[in-house]
Amino acid sequence: MSTITKVETFDFRFPTSQTLSGSDAMNPDPDYSAAYVEIHTDADDGIKGTGLVFTIGRGNDVVCRAIESMSQTLMGRNAEELLDNMRLAWDLLVRDSQLRWLGPEKGVEHMAIGAVLSALWDIKAKRAGKPLWRLLAEMEPEELVSTLDFRYLTDALTPQEAIDILKDGQKGKQERIKHLLEVGYPGYSTAAGWLGYADEKMVEIAKEETEQKGFKQIKLKVGHNVDDDIRRLGLARETIGPNVRLAVDANQVWDVPEAIEWINKFQDFNLAWVEEPTSPDDIIGHATIARAINPIPVATGEQMQNRIMFKQYLQANAFGIMQIDATRVAGPQEIVLEYLMAKKFNKIVCPHAGGVGLCEAVCHFAMFDYCAVSGTMDGRMIEYVDNQHEYFVHPTQIKDGNYVTPTAPGNGTEMTVETAQKYLYRG
Ligand SMILES: [Mg+2]
Repeated sequence: MSTITKVETFDFRFPTSQTLSGSDAMNPDPDYSAAYVEIHTDADDGIKGTGLVFTIGRGNDVVCRAIESMSQTLMGRNAEELLDNMRLAWDLLVRDSQLRWLGPEKGVEHMAIGAVLSALWDIKAKRAGKPLWRLLAEMEPEELVSTLDFRYLTDALTPQEAIDILKDGQKGKQERIKHLLEVGYPGYSTAAGWLGYADEKMVEIAKEETEQKGFKQIKLKVGHNVDDDIRRLGLARETIGPNVRLAVDANQVWDVPEAIEWINKFQDFNLAWVEEPTSPDDIIGHATIARAINPIPVATGEQMQNRIMFKQYLQANAFGIMQIDATRVAGPQEIVLEYLMAKKFNKIVCPHAGGVGLCEAVCHFAMFDYCAVSGTMDGRMIEYVDNQHEYFVHPTQIKDGNYVTPTAPGNGTEMTVETAQKYLYRG
Protein backbone atom coordinates (compact mmCIF):
# COMPACT_ATOMS: atom_id res chain seq x y z
CA MET A 1 0.00 0.00 0.00
CA SER A 2 1.18 3.54 -0.72
CA THR A 3 -0.13 6.91 0.32
CA ILE A 4 -0.44 10.21 -1.57
CA THR A 5 2.04 12.46 0.21
CA LYS A 6 2.36 15.60 -1.89
CA VAL A 7 0.39 17.54 -4.51
CA GLU A 8 2.58 20.29 -5.92
CA THR A 9 1.63 22.95 -8.49
CA PHE A 10 3.83 25.08 -10.74
CA ASP A 11 2.76 28.26 -12.59
CA PHE A 12 4.79 28.29 -15.83
CA ARG A 13 4.40 31.22 -18.22
CA PHE A 14 6.36 31.56 -21.46
CA PRO A 15 6.58 35.07 -22.99
CA THR A 16 5.28 34.07 -26.45
CA SER A 17 3.47 37.39 -26.91
CA GLN A 18 6.87 38.94 -27.65
CA THR A 19 7.10 37.10 -30.98
CA LEU A 20 3.33 36.99 -31.76
CA SER A 21 3.60 33.22 -31.95
CA GLY A 22 0.12 31.99 -31.09
CA SER A 23 -1.64 35.20 -32.18
CA ASP A 24 -5.12 34.97 -33.69
CA ALA A 25 -8.20 37.13 -34.21
CA MET A 26 -9.47 36.59 -30.67
CA ASN A 27 -6.16 36.25 -28.82
CA PRO A 28 -3.69 38.84 -30.12
CA ASP A 29 -0.99 38.47 -27.46
CA PRO A 30 -1.03 35.09 -25.67
CA ASP A 31 1.68 34.10 -23.22
CA TYR A 32 1.58 30.31 -23.49
CA SER A 33 1.30 28.92 -19.96
CA ALA A 34 0.80 25.74 -18.02
CA ALA A 35 -0.71 25.14 -14.61
CA TYR A 36 1.34 22.04 -13.91
CA VAL A 37 0.78 19.50 -11.13
CA GLU A 38 2.87 16.71 -9.68
CA ILE A 39 1.37 14.05 -7.41
CA HIS A 40 3.78 12.10 -5.23
CA THR A 41 3.29 8.95 -3.17
CA ASP A 42 5.48 7.23 -0.58
CA ALA A 43 5.88 4.15 -2.80
CA ASP A 44 9.54 3.25 -3.27
CA ASP A 45 9.19 3.20 -7.11
CA GLY A 46 9.95 6.95 -7.17
CA ILE A 47 7.08 7.51 -9.60
CA LYS A 48 5.34 10.87 -9.64
CA GLY A 49 2.18 11.58 -11.60
CA THR A 50 1.98 14.73 -13.70
CA GLY A 51 -0.79 16.66 -15.38
CA LEU A 52 -1.36 20.17 -16.67
CA VAL A 53 -3.85 22.75 -17.86
CA PHE A 54 -2.89 24.94 -20.80
CA THR A 55 -3.79 28.61 -20.47
CA ILE A 56 -2.58 31.73 -22.27
CA GLY A 57 -1.26 33.76 -19.34
CA ARG A 58 -3.25 35.68 -16.75
CA GLY A 59 -5.46 33.31 -14.80
CA ASN A 60 -2.89 30.53 -14.79
CA ASP A 61 -2.56 31.26 -11.05
CA VAL A 62 -6.32 30.78 -10.61
CA VAL A 63 -6.07 27.28 -12.13
CA CYS A 64 -3.09 26.50 -9.87
CA ARG A 65 -5.11 27.57 -6.80
CA ALA A 66 -8.02 25.38 -7.96
CA ILE A 67 -5.68 22.39 -8.25
CA GLU A 68 -4.24 23.14 -4.81
CA SER A 69 -7.73 23.28 -3.34
CA MET A 70 -8.23 19.66 -4.40
CA SER A 71 -5.10 18.45 -2.68
CA GLN A 72 -7.03 18.27 0.61
CA THR A 73 -9.21 15.58 -0.97
CA LEU A 74 -6.20 13.53 -2.06
CA MET A 75 -3.57 13.99 0.64
CA GLY A 76 -3.10 10.93 2.84
CA ARG A 77 -5.34 8.72 0.70
CA ASN A 78 -4.48 5.15 -0.16
CA ALA A 79 -3.10 5.50 -3.71
CA GLU A 80 -4.02 2.00 -4.87
CA GLU A 81 -7.61 2.46 -3.78
CA LEU A 82 -7.88 5.26 -6.36
CA LEU A 83 -5.61 3.82 -9.07
CA ASP A 84 -7.48 0.51 -9.06
CA ASN A 85 -10.82 2.31 -9.15
CA MET A 86 -10.50 5.50 -11.18
CA ARG A 87 -14.25 5.91 -11.07
CA LEU A 88 -13.87 6.54 -7.34
CA ALA A 89 -11.25 9.21 -8.08
CA TRP A 90 -13.65 10.83 -10.60
CA ASP A 91 -16.52 10.78 -8.13
CA LEU A 92 -14.41 12.27 -5.34
CA LEU A 93 -13.56 15.28 -7.51
CA VAL A 94 -16.26 15.71 -10.19
CA ARG A 95 -19.11 14.85 -7.81
CA ASP A 96 -17.81 16.92 -4.90
CA SER A 97 -21.02 18.93 -4.58
CA GLN A 98 -19.37 22.04 -3.12
CA LEU A 99 -16.81 22.23 -5.93
CA ARG A 100 -19.44 21.24 -8.50
CA TRP A 101 -21.40 24.34 -7.60
CA LEU A 102 -18.71 26.41 -9.29
CA GLY A 103 -19.38 24.79 -12.69
CA PRO A 104 -21.26 22.54 -12.81
CA GLU A 105 -18.73 20.34 -14.62
CA LYS A 106 -17.18 23.16 -16.62
CA GLY A 107 -14.70 25.98 -16.36
CA VAL A 108 -11.69 26.40 -14.08
CA GLU A 109 -12.68 23.77 -11.53
CA HIS A 110 -13.36 21.18 -14.20
CA MET A 111 -10.05 21.90 -15.96
CA ALA A 112 -8.21 21.66 -12.64
CA ILE A 113 -9.89 18.30 -11.95
CA GLY A 114 -8.69 17.24 -15.40
CA ALA A 115 -5.06 17.95 -14.46
CA VAL A 116 -5.39 16.01 -11.19
CA LEU A 117 -7.12 12.99 -12.76
CA SER A 118 -4.53 13.01 -15.57
CA ALA A 119 -1.78 12.91 -12.96
CA LEU A 120 -3.40 9.86 -11.33
CA TRP A 121 -3.71 8.13 -14.72
CA ASP A 122 -0.05 9.01 -15.28
CA ILE A 123 0.92 7.14 -12.11
CA LYS A 124 -1.27 4.21 -13.20
CA ALA A 125 0.38 4.08 -16.65
CA LYS A 126 3.90 4.47 -15.25
CA ARG A 127 3.31 1.69 -12.73
CA ALA A 128 2.06 -0.52 -15.60
CA GLY A 129 5.16 0.40 -17.62
CA LYS A 130 2.99 1.60 -20.53
CA PRO A 131 2.35 4.85 -22.39
CA LEU A 132 -1.18 6.02 -21.60
CA TRP A 133 -2.49 5.27 -25.12
CA ARG A 134 -1.47 1.67 -24.71
CA LEU A 135 -2.75 1.34 -21.14
CA LEU A 136 -6.20 2.54 -22.29
CA ALA A 137 -6.17 0.42 -25.46
CA GLU A 138 -5.22 -2.72 -23.54
CA MET A 139 -7.70 -2.37 -20.68
CA GLU A 140 -10.57 -4.85 -20.91
CA PRO A 141 -13.64 -3.08 -22.38
CA GLU A 142 -15.69 -3.68 -19.22
CA GLU A 143 -12.88 -2.44 -17.01
CA LEU A 144 -12.40 0.80 -18.99
CA VAL A 145 -16.14 1.44 -19.17
CA SER A 146 -16.43 0.91 -15.40
CA THR A 147 -14.27 4.04 -14.91
CA LEU A 148 -16.62 6.25 -17.00
CA ASP A 149 -19.48 8.46 -15.84
CA PHE A 150 -22.48 8.17 -18.19
CA ARG A 151 -24.67 10.62 -16.29
CA TYR A 152 -26.30 12.97 -18.86
CA LEU A 153 -25.13 10.80 -21.77
CA THR A 154 -27.38 7.75 -21.90
CA ASP A 155 -29.75 9.31 -24.46
CA ALA A 156 -26.74 9.25 -26.80
CA LEU A 157 -24.50 6.45 -25.50
CA THR A 158 -25.15 3.74 -22.91
CA PRO A 159 -22.50 1.77 -21.00
CA GLN A 160 -23.48 -1.38 -22.96
CA GLU A 161 -23.02 0.45 -26.28
CA ALA A 162 -19.60 1.64 -25.08
CA ILE A 163 -18.62 -1.92 -24.20
CA ASP A 164 -19.83 -3.12 -27.61
CA ILE A 165 -17.79 -0.42 -29.40
CA LEU A 166 -14.66 -1.35 -27.45
CA LYS A 167 -15.22 -5.08 -28.02
CA ASP A 168 -15.55 -4.40 -31.73
CA GLY A 169 -12.33 -2.39 -31.47
CA GLN A 170 -10.45 -5.48 -30.31
CA LYS A 171 -10.55 -6.90 -33.84
CA GLY A 172 -7.29 -6.10 -35.63
CA LYS A 173 -6.01 -4.16 -32.61
CA GLN A 174 -2.59 -5.85 -32.55
CA GLU A 175 -1.96 -5.00 -36.21
CA ARG A 176 -2.96 -1.39 -35.57
CA ILE A 177 -0.62 -1.15 -32.57
CA LYS A 178 2.19 -2.47 -34.77
CA HIS A 179 1.34 0.03 -37.53
CA LEU A 180 1.19 2.88 -35.03
CA LEU A 181 4.62 2.00 -33.64
CA GLU A 182 6.10 1.77 -37.13
CA VAL A 183 4.47 4.72 -38.88
CA GLY A 184 3.07 7.05 -36.20
CA TYR A 185 -0.07 9.19 -36.52
CA PRO A 186 -0.63 12.03 -39.05
CA GLY A 187 -0.06 15.57 -37.83
CA TYR A 188 -0.84 18.96 -39.36
CA SER A 189 0.88 22.29 -38.83
CA THR A 190 -0.43 25.64 -37.60
CA ALA A 191 3.05 27.18 -37.41
CA ALA A 192 2.68 29.36 -40.53
CA GLY A 193 -0.71 30.70 -39.71
CA TRP A 194 -0.46 33.11 -36.79
CA LEU A 195 -2.29 36.31 -37.56
CA GLY A 196 0.58 38.53 -36.41
CA TYR A 197 2.97 37.14 -39.04
CA ALA A 198 3.86 39.12 -42.19
CA ASP A 199 3.02 37.49 -45.54
CA GLU A 200 6.67 36.67 -46.28
CA LYS A 201 7.09 34.90 -42.94
CA MET A 202 3.83 32.95 -43.45
CA VAL A 203 4.91 31.81 -46.93
CA GLU A 204 8.39 30.84 -45.75
CA ILE A 205 7.07 28.76 -42.84
CA ALA A 206 4.30 27.18 -44.98
CA LYS A 207 6.97 26.01 -47.42
CA GLU A 208 9.18 24.63 -44.69
CA GLU A 209 6.34 22.81 -42.88
CA THR A 210 5.08 21.09 -46.02
CA GLU A 211 8.20 20.57 -48.15
CA GLN A 212 10.74 19.82 -45.43
CA LYS A 213 8.72 18.52 -42.48
CA GLY A 214 6.20 16.65 -44.64
CA PHE A 215 2.91 17.92 -43.18
CA LYS A 216 -0.07 17.24 -45.45
CA GLN A 217 -2.15 20.08 -44.00
CA ILE A 218 -1.52 23.60 -42.74
CA LYS A 219 -3.89 25.99 -41.01
CA LEU A 220 -4.13 29.79 -41.14
CA LYS A 221 -5.74 32.08 -38.60
CA VAL A 222 -8.44 34.32 -40.09
CA GLY A 223 -11.16 36.73 -39.01
CA HIS A 224 -9.47 40.07 -38.49
CA ASN A 225 -9.86 41.52 -42.00
CA VAL A 226 -11.51 39.67 -44.87
CA ASP A 227 -9.33 41.18 -47.61
CA ASP A 228 -6.19 40.22 -45.69
CA ASP A 229 -7.58 36.71 -45.25
CA ILE A 230 -8.27 36.27 -48.96
CA ARG A 231 -4.81 37.55 -49.86
CA ARG A 232 -3.11 35.25 -47.32
CA LEU A 233 -5.17 32.24 -48.39
CA GLY A 234 -4.23 32.87 -52.02
CA LEU A 235 -0.54 33.06 -51.11
CA ALA A 236 -0.76 29.96 -48.96
CA ARG A 237 -2.58 27.91 -51.60
CA GLU A 238 -0.04 29.02 -54.21
CA THR A 239 2.80 28.00 -51.89
CA ILE A 240 1.53 24.56 -50.87
CA GLY A 241 -0.14 23.60 -54.16
CA PRO A 242 -3.48 21.85 -54.65
CA ASN A 243 -2.61 18.58 -52.90
CA VAL A 244 -1.80 19.83 -49.40
CA ARG A 245 -4.88 20.51 -47.27
CA LEU A 246 -5.55 24.06 -46.09
CA ALA A 247 -7.75 24.87 -43.10
CA VAL A 248 -8.68 28.16 -41.41
CA ASP A 249 -9.38 29.09 -37.80
CA ALA A 250 -11.35 32.14 -36.62
CA ASN A 251 -11.06 31.45 -32.87
CA GLN A 252 -14.73 32.35 -32.17
CA VAL A 253 -14.54 35.91 -33.45
CA TRP A 254 -17.75 36.07 -35.56
CA ASP A 255 -21.49 36.27 -34.97
CA VAL A 256 -23.47 33.73 -36.98
CA PRO A 257 -24.56 35.88 -39.99
CA GLU A 258 -21.09 37.46 -40.17
CA ALA A 259 -19.46 34.01 -40.15
CA ILE A 260 -21.61 32.84 -43.05
CA GLU A 261 -20.93 35.91 -45.15
CA TRP A 262 -17.20 35.88 -44.40
CA ILE A 263 -16.59 32.15 -44.89
CA ASN A 264 -18.51 32.06 -48.17
CA LYS A 265 -15.84 34.37 -49.58
CA PHE A 266 -13.36 31.51 -49.03
CA GLN A 267 -15.16 29.03 -51.29
CA ASP A 268 -12.41 29.11 -53.97
CA PHE A 269 -9.65 27.80 -51.70
CA ASN A 270 -10.86 24.20 -51.28
CA LEU A 271 -10.70 24.44 -47.48
CA ALA A 272 -10.39 21.34 -45.29
CA TRP A 273 -12.43 23.10 -42.59
CA VAL A 274 -13.25 26.38 -40.89
CA GLU A 275 -12.55 26.18 -37.19
CA GLU A 276 -14.35 27.89 -34.32
CA PRO A 277 -16.44 30.31 -36.40
CA THR A 278 -18.40 31.45 -33.32
CA SER A 279 -18.94 30.78 -29.61
CA PRO A 280 -18.40 27.14 -28.67
CA ASP A 281 -21.58 27.34 -26.56
CA ASP A 282 -23.72 28.06 -29.65
CA ILE A 283 -24.83 24.67 -30.95
CA ILE A 284 -27.66 25.96 -33.14
CA GLY A 285 -25.42 28.73 -34.46
CA HIS A 286 -22.85 26.17 -35.57
CA ALA A 287 -25.52 24.04 -37.21
CA THR A 288 -26.81 27.11 -39.07
CA ILE A 289 -23.30 28.01 -40.23
CA ALA A 290 -22.53 24.42 -41.25
CA ARG A 291 -25.58 24.31 -43.52
CA ALA A 292 -24.91 27.76 -45.03
CA ILE A 293 -21.23 27.26 -45.91
CA ASN A 294 -21.49 23.75 -47.29
CA PRO A 295 -19.29 22.13 -48.64
CA ILE A 296 -16.70 23.68 -46.26
CA PRO A 297 -16.92 21.63 -43.04
CA VAL A 298 -17.19 23.34 -39.64
CA ALA A 299 -14.73 22.22 -36.96
CA THR A 300 -14.88 22.99 -33.26
CA GLY A 301 -14.27 21.56 -29.80
CA GLU A 302 -11.00 22.88 -28.36
CA GLN A 303 -12.97 25.04 -25.92
CA MET A 304 -15.96 22.73 -25.58
CA GLN A 305 -16.55 22.77 -21.86
CA ASN A 306 -17.63 19.18 -21.29
CA ARG A 307 -18.93 15.88 -22.72
CA ILE A 308 -22.53 17.12 -22.54
CA MET A 309 -21.79 19.84 -25.09
CA PHE A 310 -20.13 17.32 -27.40
CA LYS A 311 -23.18 15.09 -27.05
CA GLN A 312 -25.50 17.87 -28.18
CA TYR A 313 -23.25 18.90 -31.08
CA LEU A 314 -23.26 15.29 -32.25
CA GLN A 315 -27.01 14.87 -31.83
CA ALA A 316 -27.67 18.11 -33.74
CA ASN A 317 -25.05 17.29 -36.38
CA ALA A 318 -23.81 20.85 -35.81
CA PHE A 319 -20.24 20.29 -36.98
CA GLY A 320 -18.25 18.20 -39.46
CA ILE A 321 -14.98 17.80 -37.56
CA MET A 322 -14.80 17.21 -33.79
CA GLN A 323 -11.77 18.70 -32.08
CA ILE A 324 -11.06 17.35 -28.65
CA ASP A 325 -8.59 19.00 -26.28
CA ALA A 326 -6.48 17.25 -23.65
CA THR A 327 -6.84 19.83 -20.86
CA ARG A 328 -10.28 21.44 -21.28
CA VAL A 329 -12.34 18.68 -19.66
CA ALA A 330 -11.96 16.43 -16.62
CA GLY A 331 -9.13 14.22 -17.80
CA PRO A 332 -8.78 10.89 -19.59
CA GLN A 333 -12.16 9.45 -18.57
CA GLU A 334 -14.12 12.33 -20.10
CA ILE A 335 -11.96 12.28 -23.24
CA VAL A 336 -12.53 8.54 -23.67
CA LEU A 337 -16.28 9.24 -23.49
CA GLU A 338 -15.90 11.92 -26.17
CA TYR A 339 -14.17 9.45 -28.48
CA LEU A 340 -16.78 6.76 -27.84
CA MET A 341 -19.56 9.21 -28.73
CA ALA A 342 -17.69 10.29 -31.88
CA LYS A 343 -17.52 6.65 -32.92
CA LYS A 344 -21.22 6.12 -32.25
CA PHE A 345 -22.09 9.21 -34.35
CA ASN A 346 -19.47 8.42 -36.99
CA LYS A 347 -17.71 11.77 -36.62
CA ILE A 348 -14.10 12.49 -37.60
CA VAL A 349 -11.94 13.66 -34.67
CA CYS A 350 -8.90 15.91 -35.28
CA PRO A 351 -7.54 16.89 -31.85
CA HIS A 352 -6.51 20.39 -30.89
CA ALA A 353 -2.89 20.81 -29.83
CA GLY A 354 -0.01 23.25 -30.08
CA GLY A 355 -0.12 24.95 -26.67
CA VAL A 356 2.26 24.00 -23.86
CA GLY A 357 2.18 20.22 -23.55
CA LEU A 358 -0.96 19.75 -25.63
CA CYS A 359 0.84 17.81 -28.40
CA GLU A 360 2.51 15.59 -25.81
CA ALA A 361 -0.81 14.93 -24.07
CA VAL A 362 -3.44 14.68 -26.79
CA CYS A 363 -1.65 12.22 -29.08
CA HIS A 364 -2.24 9.49 -26.47
CA PHE A 365 -6.00 9.79 -26.95
CA ALA A 366 -5.88 9.86 -30.76
CA MET A 367 -3.67 6.77 -30.68
CA PHE A 368 -5.92 4.99 -28.19
CA ASP A 369 -8.84 5.77 -30.50
CA TYR A 370 -7.02 4.36 -33.53
CA CYS A 371 -6.12 1.14 -31.71
CA ALA A 372 -9.32 0.47 -29.78
CA VAL A 373 -12.25 2.67 -30.84
CA SER A 374 -12.54 4.03 -34.41
CA GLY A 375 -9.78 1.79 -35.80
CA THR A 376 -9.01 4.33 -38.52
CA MET A 377 -6.80 7.33 -39.28
CA ASP A 378 -8.77 8.28 -42.42
CA GLY A 379 -9.17 12.05 -42.59
CA ARG A 380 -7.78 12.31 -39.05
CA MET A 381 -4.75 14.26 -37.92
CA ILE A 382 -3.42 15.92 -34.78
CA GLU A 383 -2.53 19.60 -34.72
CA TYR A 384 1.16 20.37 -34.25
CA VAL A 385 3.16 23.49 -33.49
CA ASP A 386 6.82 23.45 -32.57
CA ASN A 387 6.80 25.32 -29.26
CA GLN A 388 7.88 24.59 -25.67
CA HIS A 389 8.53 20.91 -26.43
CA GLU A 390 12.03 21.24 -24.97
CA TYR A 391 10.58 21.52 -21.47
CA PHE A 392 9.15 18.00 -21.56
CA VAL A 393 10.95 14.83 -20.51
CA HIS A 394 9.57 13.01 -23.57
CA PRO A 395 8.92 15.75 -26.13
CA THR A 396 6.75 15.09 -29.19
CA GLN A 397 8.78 13.97 -32.19
CA ILE A 398 7.64 14.46 -35.78
CA LYS A 399 8.82 12.29 -38.64
CA ASP A 400 7.62 12.79 -42.24
CA GLY A 401 4.68 14.84 -40.99
CA ASN A 402 3.63 12.14 -38.52
CA TYR A 403 3.64 12.12 -34.75
CA VAL A 404 6.12 9.47 -33.63
CA THR A 405 4.25 7.11 -31.29
CA PRO A 406 5.39 7.62 -27.68
CA THR A 407 6.69 4.48 -25.98
CA ALA A 408 7.77 5.91 -22.60
CA PRO A 409 5.46 4.97 -19.72
CA GLY A 410 2.99 7.68 -18.69
CA ASN A 411 0.77 10.36 -20.21
CA GLY A 412 3.52 12.50 -21.79
CA THR A 413 3.03 15.60 -19.63
CA GLU A 414 6.07 15.28 -17.36
CA MET A 415 8.12 18.48 -17.54
CA THR A 416 11.76 19.00 -16.74
CA VAL A 417 11.03 21.45 -13.97
CA GLU A 418 14.71 22.44 -13.69
CA THR A 419 14.95 23.71 -17.28
CA ALA A 420 11.58 25.46 -17.15
CA GLN A 421 12.46 27.04 -13.79
CA LYS A 422 13.18 30.48 -15.21
CA TYR A 423 9.60 30.66 -16.54
CA LEU A 424 8.06 30.11 -13.10
CA TYR A 425 5.71 33.02 -12.54
CA ARG A 426 6.26 34.81 -9.28
CA GLY A 427 3.62 37.53 -9.51
MG1 LIG B 1 -8.04 26.53 -32.98
